[in-house]
Amino acid sequence: MEIAILGAGLAGLELGRRIKESGKDFFMLEKENQIGGLCRTNKTGEYYWDFAVHAMYSRHKDIMDYFYSLPLVYEYLNRNVKIFHTGSDGKRYIIDYPFEIGIKNMPLKDKLECVKGYIAAQRKRKKKHTHLKDWVDNSLGAGIAKHFMIPYNKKIWNCGLSDISDKLVTTKIDPNSTIDFILSILGKKVIGREYQAKFLYPKQGIQKLIDYTARDIKDDIMINADVKKLIRSRKKWVIMAGKGMEKKADLVISTIPLPELLKKIEIAGLKKKYDVFRWNNTFFVMVGLKKEYNFKLIKDCQWVFFKEREVFYRITLMHNFSSEYMPSLVAEITQKGDILEKSKRNIKDLVVRDLIRLGIIGSASQIARTDIKLVKYTYPIPTVGLGRVKENVSNVLKSNNIFLCGRNGNWDYINMDGVILNAQKFVAENL
Ligand SMILES: Cc1cc2nc3c(=O)[nH]c(=O)nc-3n(C[C@H](O)[C@H](O)[C@H](O)COP(=O)(O)OP(=O)(O)OC[C@H]3O[C@@H](n4cnc5c(N)ncnc54)[C@H](O)[C@@H]3O)c2cc1C
Repeated sequence: MEIAILGAGLAGLELGRRIKESGKDFFMLEKENQIGGLCRTNKTGEYYWDFAVHAMYSRHKDIMDYFYSLPLVYEYLNRNVKIFHTGSDGKRYIIDYPFEIGIKNMPLKDKLECVKGYIAAQRKRKKKHTHLKDWVDNSLGAGIAKHFMIPYNKKIWNCGLSDISDKLVTTKIDPNSTIDFILSILGKKVIGREYQAKFLYPKQGIQKLIDYTARDIKDDIMINADVKKLIRSRKKWVIMAGKGMEKKADLVISTIPLPELLKKIEIAGLKKKYDVFRWNNTFFVMVGLKKEYNFKLIKDCQWVFFKEREVFYRITLMHNFSSEYMPSLVAEITQKGDILEKSKRNIKDLVVRDLIRLGIIGSASQIARTDIKLVKYTYPIPTVGLGRVKENVSNVLKSNNIFLCGRNGNWDYINMDGVILNAQKFVAENL
């Protein structure tokens, strides 16, 4: 049986590794000239940076045991994450993360708004919610909605909160309990999202995880092989991948973005486009400081969230992940609205402008290097109604011997741990 894997990100590589271990052959097609997909470490001069850093953590003990078992040199890190908040008194506050835990650091008026809203929401608490806005209004209340959930989520997502499924709450937001909320307001130290509070990071970047995963399957991967079309011929799939490349397979496992796959195939019962498949593209701007400088206000944080008029919604401070990294940060900007019109150079300038305005960088003369990359399909949006459509699409593909795996492949907003589990489960159940 000939097996084709489309895409050489973490999902494709983990699949390949497991298939090889089970004694079967496969080939893998990757459109870029490099493997790794979203898990890549870039180098700009002396500065190493990921597409937003990739911290290794998981709720699943098996996955943490797996990470620990790898022959990688790790940094063992305790999370230090903050949120920028301009108070109703006009002053700037750098508050704890997650937001519910940071409320205690806010000025009294804002704090009261959040607490009153929370109590009112808890009183009318609904068990079932139709979308994210509904959940925010009926669980967290008007104060938290106003001061964080609405402005932050509007900034990161390319759609309204009522278009996003409340599945995001269980899979990602993971809210604190009411008791923890009260204890935190009363000044007790509470740790939100506990499973992310300690994590690992490979000293030389997340690319090390990719290099390790790919170590025994390098000869099976074709780079610069952009899959353009899949055609059914007798019982096989003929895969056309640019520059006249044609490969045949009995079984195809796709880890490339699902909306892209749908454009490349003709199968009765499947459309080329479904409205529920929506996603973000993200600009990543790296700012590296000259050796003698460091960032101000947030220099010890790993991540900082921004919900106000800054162009970015999050920054990652790379030097707080690896002692080998120079002082540098990566700002994330969703490609949408007026940002679509701006050139990469203008976006870099906007990032530097806002970093200086907020007092994070003293002046532009402290900067040694900047870089920018636009990455497509960073966040598959868990839209309302997605589940049913995805199940149907996936079943039709399956009955034609095309299987879906990974974050963009299976259109599931999951992290590296979910991707690895997905790949392992697929091989165990199907091959
Ligand atoms: C900003 C950001 C921060 C993140 N931080 C973390 C974190 O801290 N911790 C964590 O665990 N996870 C994190 N993640 C999630 C993690 O990146 C993903 O779960 C994981 O990398 C997904 O791997 P994948 O192989 O499924 O997809 P991808 O990495 O998207 O791989 C898909 C591959 O398919 C290739 N491809 C696409 N089209 C074609 C085509 N036509 N032909 C051939 N090949 C094609 C692509 O080039 C790519 O290599 C983060 C993600 C983002 C966007």
